[in-house]
Amino acid sequence: METRIGFGFDSHAFKPGIPLRIGGLTIKHPEGLAGHSDGDVLLHAITDALLGAVAAGDIGSFFPPGDPRWKDADSAIFLNLALVELQSAGYRIVNVDTTLILAAPRIFPIAGEMRARVADLLGIGIDQISIKAKTPEGLNLDHIAQCHAIALVERVLEPDDLKTMSAVVETQRQLEDVVEDLLSSVHGVPKKRVVAPVYDTEDIT
Ligand SMILES: [Zn+2]
Repeated sequence: METRIGFGFDSHAFKPGIPLRIGGLTIKHPEGLAGHSDGDVLLHAITDALLGAVAAGDIGSFFPPGDPRWKDADSAIFLNLALVELQSAGYRIVNVDTTLILAAPRIFPIAGEMRARVADLLGIGIDQISIKAKTPEGLNLDHIAQCHAIALVERVLEPDDLKTMSAVVETQRQLEDVVEDLLSSVHGVPKKRVVAPVYDTEDIT
């Protein structure tokens, strides 16, 4: 089995009065995570882990700072981009492990639902995604949420496996189209597919 490994890290500050999005779920909480997109710290860390596994840059290289298309964007789009990169490099996910670090809310009661959602977005089984959470003991960082993610990927050898991956990517593309339609209607921005990345390590997402 030819394998590679990728690591991702992300952090966002809590801000009152905005929706809290973690792992593709909207969580009931008085504060959300501030960011240019929906601030989904978990999906951003996984996106970087997958891109890192195939040395395809990072989230900021594909979604440049200040691009109005990604204002309040659903971070499932970023994850989709990482899946496309993974597929075109000829790899698929073996497993993903993550650790969230945040003071509140408690993740444990919703970790199962979150794993199911992320597994769905990645087109993998729930046993292939782990989501752990801990509080920032001794760090004095109760106002931010951080996430570490690591992904093991393996080279795809069977043509049938590539077909299955394509189906997942295509489903995700449809999601992306829906979101782009919404964005263009809200912001009056012309609809446009993600084009070739400009390498840029700045991450404002
Ligand atoms: Zn982020």
